[in-house]
Amino acid sequence: MSNISTDCPVCKGKNTLEMTSKTENIPYFGEIMESTLLCSECGYRHSDTICLEQKEPVKYTLEINKNNINARIVKSQTATLSIPELGLKVEPGPKSQGYVSNIEGVLNRFESAVATAMEWAEEEQIKGNALRILEKIENLKYGNETATLVIEDPFGHSIIIHDDAKHRKLTEDEINKLNTGFTTFEK
Ligand SMILES: [Zn+2]
Repeated sequence: MSNISTDCPVCKGKNTLEMTSKTENIPYFGEIMESTLLCSECGYRHSDTICLEQKEPVKYTLEINKNNINARIVKSQTATLSIPELGLKVEPGPKSQGYVSNIEGVLNRFESAVATAMEWAEEEQIKGNALRILEKIENLKYGNETATLVIEDPFGHSIIIHDDAKHRKLTEDEINKLNTGFTTFEK
């Protein structure tokens, strides 16, 4: 574990942003480094995980049920996370974070994203749709419903650790369709 402090890009606080990082060995996966930035002044927080090993592009799928809700997952910054049955998808972008969590933790993240979107929505139809998705996420958490969690990572730095999880190498075509989260500039 190591700590360094720097100035906060959000509130401009002097040395208020502390970075903590630690490495962890994930079984069947390898060594990862988790780092968190936290500002003591404004509460700004950003976390990331980096896999320290070279990996193949990978696609993981898991039928979520009450027996695997605690399955561990490593989601890197370059991974696309989706639950097709609910029409939910998180693509990598400048603000995307890498993290280590479990299926329930992932569902909680989806839940708060949908809840935020619902607050901002003006149309009744969108609000209704969001409400229906929130209900389904609750059902998934309590094992009353099932859906598929899909993680696609062109750098292979993500994993779902559970016997129920299936994985295979991403095809060239699939990789090209994924958003990598890196900004590219046209010449
Ligand atoms: Zn700050």
